[in-house]
Amino acid sequence: MAQRKTARRQPVKKCLDCKGTGEITESVRVGRARKGRETADRQTALCLTCFGSGQVPID
Ligand SMILES: [Zn+2]
Repeated sequence: MAQRKTARRQPVKKCLDCKGTGEITESVRVGRARKGRETADRQTALCLTCFGSGQVPID
């Protein structure tokens, strides 16, 4: 395996948006009067704060 040049180790902290999981659970709100249609209450999405890594750099 080729070793990647790693920059100085960057301090990270746990992403609070996803609690370190890298995924967030969104509540899907069906607020636009879609009668008779039930969607899943929640769906999992990639956390955009940490892009799925679960960690965010401290800066
Ligand atoms: Zn996150």
